Amino acid sequence: MTGDSIPAGIDSTIVERTIDSGFPLLMFPRRLEAAFEGEGAAERCRKLAIGGLFGIVLYNLFLISDRLTAPDTFHIAVWLRLGVVTPIALLLIAALYLNPPVAVRELIVAGGAVILGAGSNFYLMLVAHGQHHDAQHQVIILILLFVTMVERVRFWYAVAACLGCFAIHATALAMLPAYPLQYQISSNAVFGCAVVLSIFASYVLEREMRMNFLLSLRGRLQRRDLDLETRRDPLTGLLNRRSLDEVIEACNQSKSAGLELAIVLLDIDRFKSFNDTAGHQAGDVCLKRVAGIIQSELRDYVDAAFRFGGEEFILVLRGIDLATAVRISERIRRAIEDAAIPHPALPLGEVVTVSMGVASAVVSREIRVGVIIAAADTALYAAKRNGRNQVSPRLPTADIVEMPDRKLRSK
Ligand code: GH3
Ligand code: MG
Ligand code: MG
Repeated sequence: MTGDSIPAGIDSTIVERTIDSGFPLLMFPRRLEAAFEGEGAAERCRKLAIGGLFGIVLYNLFLISDRLTAPDTFHIAVWLRLGVVTPIALLLIAALYLNPPVAVRELIVAGGAVILGAGSNFYLMLVAHGQHHDAQHQVIILILLFVTMVERVRFWYAVAACLGCFAIHATALAMLPAYPLQYQISSNAVFGCAVVLSIFASYVLEREMRMNFLLSLRGRLQRRDLDLETRRDPLTGLLNRRSLDEVIEACNQSKSAGLELAIVLLDIDRFKSFNDTAGHQAGDVCLKRVAGIIQSELRDYVDAAFRFGGEEFILVLRGIDLATAVRISERIRRAIEDAAIPHPALPLGEVVTVSMGVASAVVSREIRVGVIIAAADTALYAAKRNGRNQVSPRLPTADIVEMPDRKLRSK
């Protein structure tokens, strides 16, 4: 997942709260953690695998040092490095390409480096028995670097790996024959410092990586909000003309050919006199209420309602035939009438009503969306002429389409 996509269930509240918390334990709330790990997981596996291959090459170059420092046991080193560790490491690297879960992925790298890398070096140091062993026990510092800097294993796994290395280091030194205690202490102290520094670096790196992720999410959310703002009518919150033009263009594309599309034009009746009597602000409140009713009567994500002009709205209903569109429109008309918004310019008890013109057709090269809109406009004109507060065309049956349940609406 890249670019401007926003993972499901992530909003700016959770992002801002997490940034503010400072996430000292390098853990995000569950959903955010899933998004962090999910985003670029395959890419991370690929990078870990490349780092692993790089590590294997370096690891085997130490055969030169084995040959120089412990020639008597060189054959064991060849067998162990090339015959045992390298094939197992290659298998682990292959497993990374299967995109395993986070814990398995980090364990493969951290565990592989410690057990295979550090473990095998110390085994060689012990079997070299009395020969020069400094090279081997310094090599383990490279494992720390590999885990925390090259592979950037997630912090808590890196901590475990570093402490594991320290345990192997201290144990192996204690097992070396004739290795004085004061040398062991001094060597363990140096190694201990390397462990502390590595853990510190791992913490700083991962914190930075997590912060970058949060900042990128913040940017994406801000861009999306901005984008939404430019697509919405500020008064009613419905989509605006710009969005409508985009939808029309998309429906006119050849890939939409064959799509049955219903267009509904909705116009508030006698709205000029409403404004003239109650004032423009009261008119705005009325517009908002009508828009709210329209929106609540549509299927989320499937149907779209736009503010077409002053007190006119347009609904774009995909995959809906004329009969169904008329029934849906009748339901909306009734909902607005039932809202009983008093009309100040009409006799007491009269309420705000709407007239609606409906048209539906299968979009084709000949029948563009503009043609359907023009037909809906003609139907709206007929509804006005016939006395307003009605849907045109009328259907022989008066039944309306019931509101689908929420689950269906969110499909
Ligand atoms: P009809 O039943 O034939 O539709 O009559 P009408 O009065 O609704 O039609 P007309 O098109 O003459 O009037 C539309 C009015 O809508 C004009 C204007 O006062 C009002 N209007 C347009 N945009 C807005 C707006 O953003 N806010 C408010 N309050 N009123 C608006
Ligand atoms: Mg009008
Ligand atoms: Mg009107």
